[in-house]
Amino acid sequence: MNDHTIPAFSLEFFPPRDLAAQERLVRAAKQMLAIQPRYVSVTFGAGGSTRAGTADTVRTLRNLGCDAAPHLSCVGASRDQLREILQAYRDEGVRRVVALRGDLPSGMGGDAGELRYARDLVEFIRAETGDWFHIEVAAYPEMHPQSGSVKADMQHFVDKVNAGADAAITQYFFNADSYFDFVDRAQEKGVTIPIVPGIMPITNHSQLLRFSEMCGAEVPRWIRLRLAEYGDDKASIRAFGIEVVTRLCETLLDGGAPGLHFYTLNSAEAPMGIWKALGR
Ligand code: FAD
Repeated sequence: MNDHTIPAFSLEFFPPRDLAAQERLVRAAKQMLAIQPRYVSVTFGAGGSTRAGTADTVRTLRNLGCDAAPHLSCVGASRDQLREILQAYRDEGVRRVVALRGDLPSGMGGDAGELRYARDLVEFIRAETGDWFHIEVAAYPEMHPQSGSVKADMQHFVDKVNAGADAAITQYFFNADSYFDFVDRAQEKGVTIPIVPGIMPITNHSQLLRFSEMCGAEVPRWIRLRLAEYGDDKASIRAFGIEVVTRLCETLLDGGAPGLHFYTLNSAEAPMGIWKALGR
């Protein structure tokens, strides 16, 4: 097996809000180093709300020995602000970035910023920094919720890739066919970069429904029904979640997915449970 055929596992974190959360994050990250992630990534509050937190968390994770990639979104930002952020990461030796449009939080006003779409951000990063950064972009097997059609959404994804992305991470989903269908359609349009499925562990019923409503990910009826019946029985939800998501991961890897990107929610328990159950 050469490096390209080994599934690339990666982990996503968000910037902790306080010292206690920071300590939990470091503990979780240390535990998850057992997975030997190819890289870890740190989310960015669109509009710049976590700018310092993202950079600090990237530094913390790099100090643990991880190749860490900040997420960067262009919505609400000027070219000068983006240039400054990219330069700061370059100065620290960061070589990866996850390039997004982002969604402005409600209440942040209507200033959309100087770049409209993630494609424009990818173009900007390439124009400003050449090949310095390995650029990941987002992909939506079940279509981006604001998109008018599956066809248009795919074309926008292809344009974003052609602007200079090296790899893509998907929004999470629970139906493996949606991923395989997306990859097939992307490849038919000439996309050759790895499209890595984003994996959301199931640990909390109401949180899962809330996230899924926001990002347009479908939670199948049978999963919703099972979770509803467990009520407050957290242990059963966790066990069920690990079983369901491990099966999904197995199907994805067996079907040729180039790796898995775990949305850790800064906790090691569920990703490690899935990892161990996968036995890879
Ligand atoms: P784009 O690729 O720009 O697409 C956004 C929408 O615009 C789509 O509907 C697309 O079809 C449409 N579109 C694109 N180009 C055109 C065009 N030329 N004309 C018309 N329509 C067009 N959000 C954060 O705020 N911070 C994060 O850290 C973060 N991390 C994420 C990580 C991953 C792996 C994923 C999947 C999502 C993440 N998000 C994050 C959420 C993301 O910012 C939102 O989903 C956002 O709404 C879209 O971002 P994008 O980069 O996919 O946008």
